[in-house]
Amino acid sequence: MLFCEEKYKCFQQKLLNFYAWSADTVSSSCGNCSNCQCRAVDNPGLINVTTDAIRVINIIRRTIEELEEDNIIVRDDVIGIFLQLKNKKIIDKKLNSLSIYEENFDRTIRNSKQAFHLLDDLINKKIVVEAVTLKKTGAGFWISDSKITGVAEDAEEMVYSYSWDYYL
Ligand SMILES: [Zn+2]
Repeated sequence: MLFCEEKYKCFQQKLLNFYAWSADTVSSSCGNCSNCQCRAVDNPGLINVTTDAIRVINIIRRTIEELEEDNIIVRDDVIGIFLQLKNKKIIDKKLNSLSIYEENFDRTIRNSKQAFHLLDDLINKKIVVEAVTLKKTGAGFWISDSKITGVAEDAEEMVYSYSWDYYL
């Protein structure tokens, strides 16, 4: 089970899962820690975002296909297309002229915080591939630079093998 709001995730469960030997040893929430109590008070709804996850994959595939070769795409671009934003970045890169941008899609996820969480989740599960490189700035600082390079070959299959229930 996935949690959009990390504040709702049981502390004890997080700790046990961190030290667990295998990924399929999933402990249940304790019901006593501050996060469990916060969850009980707020009573957030668990919403399935599988179609949104598939949408993000399609966006990445088709954007890479349609863009000129020297264009790179980053997290902001993917989220901008997903949420059909009309900001300067999107317009400068002409992402709003892509066919996938125009296409109607009934989103479950409605804000950028949740959309970024979904994208991070897809990257962590290696369904979306992100390349991170370190660059040295003129001032001598090292900064990390990341770009989205594609999706796993069996991305859809991978999506369907996980539960995409989020607290939205
Ligand atoms: Zn707890």
